[in-house]
Amino acid sequence: MRAIRRFTVRPVLPEPLTALGELAGNLRWSWHHETQDVFAHVDADLWARTQDPVEVLGGVDPTRLDELARDDGFLDRLARVRDDLRAYLADDHWYQRELGDGPRAIAYFSPEFGIAAALPQYSGGLGILAGDHLKAASDLGVPLIGVGLLYRHGYFTQALSREGWQQESYPLLDPDELPISPLREADGQIATISLALPGGPDLKARIWVARVGRVPLLMLDTDVDGNPQNYADITDRLYGGGGEHRLRQELLLGVGGVRALRAYCRITGAPEPEVYHTNEGHAGFQGLERIRELTVGDGGPGLGFDDALEMSRASTVFTTHTPVPAGIDRFPRSLIEQYFAADGGVLPGVPTDRVLALGAEDYEGGDPGVFNMAVMGFRLGQRANGVSTLHGHVSREMFNGLWPDFDEAEVPIGSITNGVHARTWVAREFLDMFDESGAELDGEAGALARVFNDIGFERIWAAKRRMRERLVHDARRRVRASWLHRGAVDAELTWIDDALSPDVLTIGFARRVPSYKRLTLMLRDPERLKALLLDPERPIQLVIAGKSHPADDGGKALIQQLVRFADDAEVRYRIVFLPDYEIQMAQVLYPGCDVWLNNPLRPYEACGTSGMKAALNGGLNLSILDGWWDEWFDGENGWAIPSADGVDDPNHRDDLEAAARYELLEREIAPRFYDRDAAGVPVRWMEMMRHTRESLGPKVLASRMVRDYVNALYTPAARNARALGADYAGAVELAAWKGRVRTAWPGGRVEHVESSGVDEVAEVGASLRVRADVALGDLSPDDVQVQLVHGRAEGDDRLTSLRVAPLSLSERFEESRAAFTGEVLLDRAGPFGYTVRVVPVHPLLATTTELGLAALA
Ligand SMILES: *Cc1c(COP(=O)(O)O)cnc(C)c1O
Repeated sequence: MRAIRRFTVRPVLPEPLTALGELAGNLRWSWHHETQDVFAHVDADLWARTQDPVEVLGGVDPTRLDELARDDGFLDRLARVRDDLRAYLADDHWYQRELGDGPRAIAYFSPEFGIAAALPQYSGGLGILAGDHLKAASDLGVPLIGVGLLYRHGYFTQALSREGWQQESYPLLDPDELPISPLREADGQIATISLALPGGPDLKARIWVARVGRVPLLMLDTDVDGNPQNYADITDRLYGGGGEHRLRQELLLGVGGVRALRAYCRITGAPEPEVYHTNEGHAGFQGLERIRELTVGDGGPGLGFDDALEMSRASTVFTTHTPVPAGIDRFPRSLIEQYFAADGGVLPGVPTDRVLALGAEDYEGGDPGVFNMAVMGFRLGQRANGVSTLHGHVSREMFNGLWPDFDEAEVPIGSITNGVHARTWVAREFLDMFDESGAELDGEAGALARVFNDIGFERIWAAKRRMRERLVHDARRRVRASWLHRGAVDAELTWIDDALSPDVLTIGFARRVPSYKRLTLMLRDPERLKALLLDPERPIQLVIAGKSHPADDGGKALIQQLVRFADDAEVRYRIVFLPDYEIQMAQVLYPGCDVWLNNPLRPYEACGTSGMKAALNGGLNLSILDGWWDEWFDGENGWAIPSADGVDDPNHRDDLEAAARYELLEREIAPRFYDRDAAGVPVRWMEMMRHTRESLGPKVLASRMVRDYVNALYTPAARNARALGADYAGAVELAAWKGRVRTAWPGGRVEHVESSGVDEVAEVGASLRVRADVALGDLSPDDVQVQLVHGRAEGDDRLTSLRVAPLSLSERFEESRAAFTGEVLLDRAGPFGYTVRVVPVHPLLATTTELGLAALA
């Protein structure tokens, strides 16, 4: 029988236990073990099954609650943990102590947030990163407000068919059973925002608030009374539909997200954000909504479009996350035209042509029929970054077309390497040892290595075995459940009791399954893999997981190929595929692995974070030099699989990289793991673990990442936005200056360059003096910087390793011409070359390349 209607009956907590509700209402429990212990004490079975305080409180027997309400020991403990939460929320942290002039608040937009398994609103790395960003911001006291959507079915739940084909299901999430609460107006009404959509009624959405420590996360939900069904379905699934559905989600996230922020700040009195950070291009429309507020919005200042664009740009930070072209959102231009019609569109009064121009691929190789969300991200954000050093480089190359007069190295896209939230991802055994030794998790590198020495290899190795053992048990449980789902009966499954071993070298591989991640590269030579798995003395075992996007049959075929291999009775003790990779599985998987394998096609892995989580749990990385590993592999903290990026034939490339990886496993990794001292400890292995901790420890943490964002992007953005002025005078002036400089630019020219101080062959230490005569046309000398650009001259006179030295105004001939001079010390031997160029300067530009204007000699 099916219910015709459903609702959730909320538990009533006995008065002495109300603190349980307070603790369940803040997701800080997800990284605070003492709070988890409290819920485990309420109902151990329920906790073990759900790891979800809301479910524990909803499902626990009321007589158990009455019992706890009389248990003084428990009440003391509860009060202590609650006080700890209150102090955490109220106390000053790093941001309050160290940053006098940081932004009052920062809005952080993301299409997905992976905070805890109990709030399944993520698909993979982007969401987990966003969750870790919020948690680390909370720990540091950074005043962030998250903005996202609440998807009624989240992403999807993965299972396998008998044949090993991925099956997706979409369980309905009941918001009343999630750790969120609706935003209400002062009179108790549910707060909503609305959005005009072309050709239909206004779209309405309510706003859920999740508390992530100190950070509120606003989640918009269109499943509300008054919306027609097709509107209610806008927030049905994460990355569920294409085209128009996706566009509507992104409009809701960007435009609706700003409106939700305004409602939240109005109702709660929280300060309005000074900085808007869009995590990937999906939230890019937030900038357009802010332009609407400033131009045609009721009660706004009524600025011109260009002035509003300057305000919006100055306060926007854009992070790009993928070097895979298919990962970038592109909509048909005609669809955007329809949705942004100046009358009857989403943002009435905002000129359609200006919107279209922001996302136009009007550069060489661009598609004129397309509106590109990443391109709009760069144009609407004065500050932009990639997510590892290599990805910064790849992004500059990828988007060089937007700044065609500059070399890749000068394209104004920086990088901040991702990090992970230690208290979420490090196993309790390790955290307890760190806490015991008094070391700070994000303290200096040496301290982390000293913990290894203080605690001793033997105890650490024993802890690592317990972590491996927990994974083995969890994996067996999951494999059994998967086989039962696939139609097996218990009597066929006795072998699972012996699958995997807590004493065998354990290699993990888990990630989404787009083709560039090459899930099946390990099967390149099945016999060689089998030999590794079944080695009588030094076997390895593999634990694999990953979801394929529901529309990607290619990815599903890779999963099937792998599952079929793992189904084979000969190897199934040593290789398992665990369906439904998600946070809870990941938290057992990383600590249980000795080696974390990653073999993407370089350079498509923008950063990757699972290897960082493994490393923090004493795992050693075995990875292609891509993303973060390219940056921080130091020769001793794991292994690099040589990448054959120069090889054009993809098959041959796979062969080469797979062979190199088998070789490392056979010759170095397995022998080192099984090389034991008298006490059974693999000393050389543990030395590598210690070195990994020391070399990566503080760098891979989200606290480092968030500090970098605050220092390098948020604070400068807020400073610029403030300089543009509360009364917008600075924005109006900057927009006028840009207009004037753009118009006058063709009149600027380097007319003549002469140098002195060195001959054909110079010596290191000599000074090169340069004088450039520049025609300014209608530009003033203050509008420009004349730069001596120098570097290594390659065979074709191309300059590499660029350096830039500004020249100073030395002589003004007439109104429109001037001479600039300067000198540069030749401090490096080798072929040297230089040129002179003119670029625009203004104190409110973040870089001299920002406008894309340059006049070269
Ligand atoms: C960390 C994590 C990811 C992302 O891992 P990558 O290495 O960045 O691909 C995906 N899913 C889960 C559940 C994770 O914990």
